[in-house]
Amino acid sequence: MPELPEVETIVRDLKKKIIGRKIIDAWVDTPKLIKNPKNFSDFKEKIKNRKILDAWRRGKNIILSLSGGKTLLIHQKMTGHLLVGQWKWQKNNWQPIGDGYLKEKVNNYIHLLFFLDDNRMFALSDVRKFAKAILIDSENLNQLSDIKNLGPEPLDKKFTFAKFKERLKNKKGKIKQILLNQEIIAGLGNIYADETLFLARLHPTRRLESLNNAELARIYKSSRLVLKKAIRLRGTSISDYRDTAGKPGGYDKVRLVYRREGEKCPRPCQGLVQRIKIGNRSAHFCPKCQK
Ligand SMILES: [Zn+2]
Repeated sequence: MPELPEVETIVRDLKKKIIGRKIIDAWVDTPKLIKNPKNFSDFKEKIKNRKILDAWRRGKNIILSLSGGKTLLIHQKMTGHLLVGQWKWQKNNWQPIGDGYLKEKVNNYIHLLFFLDDNRMFALSDVRKFAKAILIDSENLNQLSDIKNLGPEPLDKKFTFAKFKERLKNKKGKIKQILLNQEIIAGLGNIYADETLFLARLHPTRRLESLNNAELARIYKSSRLVLKKAIRLRGTSISDYRDTAGKPGGYDKVRLVYRREGEKCPRPCQGLVQRIKIGNRSAHFCPKCQK
């Protein structure tokens, strides 16, 4: 699933590529992707002729501020990713015009597409079709459950170590599950939670209540390091995630433990990376240096 660095990469791309453009039409073949308004012709009428004023991120949500007080929220969920380009309808499918990454199979599951006023389009490619799009009045954005219940942004300048500790106060449970809980901190998912705990040298099943100040500080620092590095490398593309040009990210190559089960630990500890289940999610860690 795209996590904070992947969504941030998409949003930064969108800022460069589509701000100031007008949406002139929309197309869908999987209407269930649109959660509001439920009726697609209604959705289309409401989004048409609106200018894209801004693109930003909250947690794992992509948010486009549109003219006339409307906002389009897109959550890419499992395998969705937004692409910007040109396509033509051919053989019952949207075929990308020109060569390049958009031609790759992973980018060819287009189920929702917006036409821009400069002949380009932006589209959602999503093999599993779990993504969602919501068009609402901007003033109601903060009341959406997708936004309302989110914890703070881990890379926000105001999110100090003191704030981080305050956030975890009185919470209980395995640290890996705590890090995945979007209501405690927004944006971390399975990949970066595993990477963070590796850098912090903490076992993913360690209970939050058992962590001392120094250990909490290691988590705080490590999460920021990992997220910043992954943004710099434009995300991880082990699964379907691609940037808006359809290009894979670069973090996969430098990942430390995530999906490296059976491989040597990157530290000289002679340990082998293990994979276990915590809840229904897998966790990857080195049993020798993560305690
Ligand atoms: Zn190790």
